[in-house]
Amino acid sequence: MNQSISLLRQSLNTASRRFHTTSSSLSSQRCRRQYSIHVDAANASKLAELDSRKLSITKTTTPKELLPAEELVFGRNFTDHMLSVEWTASEGWLAPRITPYQNLSLDPATCVFHYAFECFEGMKAYKDTTGNIRLFRPDKNMERFNKSSARIALPTFNSESLIDLIGQFCKLEERFIPSPRGYSLYLRPTMIGTQRTLGVGPPGSALLYVIASPVGPYYPTGFKAVSLEATDYAVRAWPGGVGDKKLGANYAPCIVPQMEAASRGFHQNLWLFGEEEYITEVGTMNLFVALKDKKTGQNELITAPLDGTILEGVTRDSVLGIARERLEPEGWKVTERKCTMKELAEAADEGRMLEVFGAGTAAVVSPVRKISWKGSTVECGLSEGTEAGPIAQRMKDWIEGIQYGEEPENPWSVKLN
Ligand SMILES: *Cc1c(COP(=O)(O)O)cnc(C)c1O
Repeated sequence: MNQSISLLRQSLNTASRRFHTTSSSLSSQRCRRQYSIHVDAANASKLAELDSRKLSITKTTTPKELLPAEELVFGRNFTDHMLSVEWTASEGWLAPRITPYQNLSLDPATCVFHYAFECFEGMKAYKDTTGNIRLFRPDKNMERFNKSSARIALPTFNSESLIDLIGQFCKLEERFIPSPRGYSLYLRPTMIGTQRTLGVGPPGSALLYVIASPVGPYYPTGFKAVSLEATDYAVRAWPGGVGDKKLGANYAPCIVPQMEAASRGFHQNLWLFGEEEYITEVGTMNLFVALKDKKTGQNELITAPLDGTILEGVTRDSVLGIARERLEPEGWKVTERKCTMKELAEAADEGRMLEVFGAGTAAVVSPVRKISWKGSTVECGLSEGTEAGPIAQRMKDWIEGIQYGEEPENPWSVKLN
């Protein structure tokens, strides 16, 4: 009992320290006070922000040999270095470091191993035809990383600083970024709680690190449409849950359903939600459906709304933005709305189904051929021998065009200088 009260007090202290950090730094920006009656707040305001100017770099003395492009397997091989920054509740962010890629050494009681204090991001660096390195909408990844971290009581950070650090890291690893279209350097920013304690409370220390893996095209020989199993016996995310955050804890529980779908010959799960059987996401991608409206016959591109059960994909947001800009003038309706499996099956039965595709950083788009639902098969508009519909194909071309700098003025592509 005493123990749990002291734990509670400990966590309340930390929480109020953090609250004071924000409120005091806000008020000190507005007016400089002569004195403070909040002694804690005065101390807490010394917590250091993440500062990319404090970066130190230790280069490897044993550079790795580059793999031939065709041997690259997603997430298997990593570059020479890693970027890491430690955080403590008493000091804030310590000086960022780039060091040779190396193992972490953590006490077996470290909180990440017991209570899953872990969140991550997935983004890529691209090389354009003139040799510049480019990031794609990194501000979106940083915003989401901060939201994920805050949700599990890990620290937040200044987004511009981390983008700056990631930029310097990418430049150091430049030789690992293959130039051909479809190739890139996959970046994995990760945050873990590092406090050594079995007590359940906010971690008093954390480690933010970024590792990088050169990757080839998701579809080396062109699109290959996937088949899905509509999954109703397991739920990926629910209202009030954390399915909209990129927490490691969301992914492990999806592997057994994925193996079950695979054992029946399907590539991925189509996660359904609720008695209505709303379609939510496919595997670890957002889902888009293109169909003809039952009443008006208008073409409609649909994806699920961000109601807390949907991961806020950067690709999802980009597909929506481009569709509103480039498909609406062609007469398309672009909507974020709930759509049931029944509505999908009905569109397919009535010949109104145009196409279905997943959207995510790894593949950009991933066309869907069919969905198995309650023992029947819903065909998704691809004729035999066709691996992608026109919208999926055009979206991939549009988004990759921006990622590889072919629209030089497009603000989504951030050139490192
Ligand atoms: C990462 C992820 C996505 C895609 O997000 P992008 O930012 O487009 O890569 C979609 N759904 C889930 C569950 C994810 O984890």
